[in-house]
Amino acid sequence: MKSSRREFVGLVGVAALKAASVTKPELILHNGSIHTMDSANPRAEAVAIAGGRFLAVGTNAEIENISSASVKKIDLGRRTVFPGFIDAHLHTASSGLRHLKEVDCDLRSIAAIQAAIRERAAKTPAGQWVVGFKYDDTKTSDGRALRIADLDAAAPNHPVIITHRGGHTSWVNSRALQVADVNEKTPDPPGGKFERGPNGKLTGRAMETATAPFRSKIRNTATRSERREGVKLITKMIARTGITSVNDPQGSPEDLTAYQDAYESGDLSVRVYGFISQGFIKRMLAAGVHSGLGNEWVRVGAMKMVCDGSISERDARVSQPYIGRPDDYGILVRTGDQLFEDSREAHAAGWHIGTHANGDVAIDIVLKLYERLQKETPRRDPRFRIEHCTVINDDLVRRIKAQGVIPTPFSSYVYYHGEKMKEYGAERLNHMFALRSFLDAGVRATMSSDYPPGPFEPMMFLQSAVTRTDTHGTVWGPTQRITIEEALRVATVHGSYASFEEKQKGTIEAGKLADLVVVGRDPLTADPSTLVNIPIERTMVGGQWMFEA
Ligand SMILES: [Zn+2]
Repeated sequence: MKSSRREFVGLVGVAALKAASVTKPELILHNGSIHTMDSANPRAEAVAIAGGRFLAVGTNAEIENISSASVKKIDLGRRTVFPGFIDAHLHTASSGLRHLKEVDCDLRSIAAIQAAIRERAAKTPAGQWVVGFKYDDTKTSDGRALRIADLDAAAPNHPVIITHRGGHTSWVNSRALQVADVNEKTPDPPGGKFERGPNGKLTGRAMETATAPFRSKIRNTATRSERREGVKLITKMIARTGITSVNDPQGSPEDLTAYQDAYESGDLSVRVYGFISQGFIKRMLAAGVHSGLGNEWVRVGAMKMVCDGSISERDARVSQPYIGRPDDYGILVRTGDQLFEDSREAHAAGWHIGTHANGDVAIDIVLKLYERLQKETPRRDPRFRIEHCTVINDDLVRRIKAQGVIPTPFSSYVYYHGEKMKEYGAERLNHMFALRSFLDAGVRATMSSDYPPGPFEPMMFLQSAVTRTDTHGTVWGPTQRITIEEALRVATVHGSYASFEEKQKGTIEAGKLADLVVVGRDPLTADPSTLVNIPIERTMVGGQWMFEA
């Protein structure tokens, strides 16, 4: 991406100066090394900002031309600048609330997790639930998963539920089993499993829909102000990493209220396209609301459905069994017919639809579902999404392209969850998180952390996508490597398309929202194995610094 002075002339000459005649700049950032991601004008040195949008983009001299004595100016000191990163699948409101209210079990030993549970139980009246999140069975030094006895020892007088960071499976103690009336004789529910050891006894792990008997016993005590506080906390954490927009891929009307409250109190640090979970859609339909309502800060997103299990918890519904478990093909949570009934009314009412499908069997089901919805109620540019869309093959990619579907593959899994990949096997990894296949087919895949399941740092995405190497140095699926230029496009331009906002953001262009990130080193020239360490120096959303290191 070499720049030449000539490249800037077109844009400044037409769009920028036309805009400048209507508005004066309020802020100028100059002396930067700006990668605009706008293919018509890829490089710039300076931007003028007014009303939260870019007024002009060009060379130092060109932007100086439209300046005046009263305009605030910031010297970027030749720092590298990109459009703000867009995470197309980040569980925002719910994880904010969890960080506020639950026990963070992202710890490196079972003893440390027990200590954290013990501490919380000491402050919780006996009989009330102790709830934990972000537990990861492969990240503790013990070499085994949690057991009922571990949780009983930590909190004998409280029901305990600890959810995996993947979010689809949970570990419970004896009190929790009693309270939920689950025992050895309880049959597995459709779309779920109570894990049993070789002796047939319950291990304490409940998978997919089998977590429902426990969840239904936990009273949701979050207040409206706590929900707003959760959004404030998590969006601050997100803005620190250079992300300026998220799609929250699962949510409730209460989450929309929390976003709106945070926006009104000045506590929302990133823009949100807030999905609504299928279970709440009747309430939204009754209110006459569909996807797209809102403003450039808080917008009603897609309706979310779930078809199968999880990659990090190794229960996605795949056509070939898991390595070392020859009879295990994962879990299908909903059938195609059920998903059709769940979505036809919303599709007809104008809802954008995103369905979680990880395994190749599930992806096939969802593609058929989308075909069926379009046949019943044809809509122009429905931009259907397949959330995660992890295990693919050539036929699935061809159909994804033909139907204009947007996949949101996990952005940090190869790097962060490498030790879990052996359960899929080296050969299958060449068909997972398949950015190379998607880009070659002309499919606009996104950067999507799925946090909490995956870390959301965009620099980790860049390293993961470019090197396909995990933290232990193991390479997974090298045929799916993409270039750093491609990865940056996925993390910006493609993200804006996934929420129908490509005219608003994704590039640094006159007229677009003034969302950008200033980084400490240029990823385009950095050693790919060091991308994850590139410091984020500043994040701007709508012309305001939301983070400054
Ligand atoms: Zn998710």
